[in-house]
Amino acid sequence: MEPIKSVSDVQCDVCGNSTHVKEYGLQFGTLRANWCYGSAHDGERYEIGLCEPCFFRTLLGLRRDRMVNFMFSDEGQDLSVLGMLLAMIFSMTVALDLLTSLPRQHYQRGA
Ligand SMILES: [Zn+2]
Repeated sequence: MEPIKSVSDVQCDVCGNSTHVKEYGLQFGTLRANWCYGSAHDGERYEIGLCEPCFFRTLLGLRRDRMVNFMFSDEGQDLSVLGMLLAMIFSMTVALDLLTSLPRQHYQRGA
């Protein structure tokens, strides 16, 4: 039985930079897909590791596409929450303020 190897670094698949943040460990995002029967890309699987700048540059592109696709829609959109599952809240005081003052959508996944 081989010993379990720990991952000491993950390099960004786009820019090649390390995703290791000194004293905090690995910080990276993942763009992942597993296309199955019925899709045009049946059987293809993707996983792209992104450093923080590349992740948010990618997210910015998706937000722009979303904005263009829905620019004539009557619905108001908050693109800042697109894809966000959870916003980390670092201060209990801020958390309490947010819970009482922000609309519920800030805590839920965007459209
Ligand atoms: Zn990168």
